[in-house]
Amino acid sequence: MSKDCPPRSELDDLVMGRVPSRRTRRHVESCISCHAVLEQLGRDARLVQSLREAAVLLSDPATSDVIEACLDGGPPDATGAAPGGELRNN
Ligand SMILES: [Zn+2]
Repeated sequence: MSKDCPPRSELDDLVMGRVPSRRTRRHVESCISCHAVLEQLGRDARLVQSLREAAVLLSDPATSDVIEACLDGGPPDATGAAPGGELRNN
């Protein structure tokens, strides 16, 4: 990312559908590295969105906690040994 690039928070806003300043918009339109960041942020945003939707569908506060933990930088226990968390096919 070059020093002319807008702060990541502005790119974040753009991904979230907020209209950036004209300067930012013009820059992003012609900046390859911003395009790459936006693409990554877009993927993340979609992932976050589907995780949130899944949490709503499950209506399980514990699941939301796990998702929030994941979003915060990974699950507390990456080995998957969650208490009583074994999935079963009925
Ligand atoms: Zn840029």
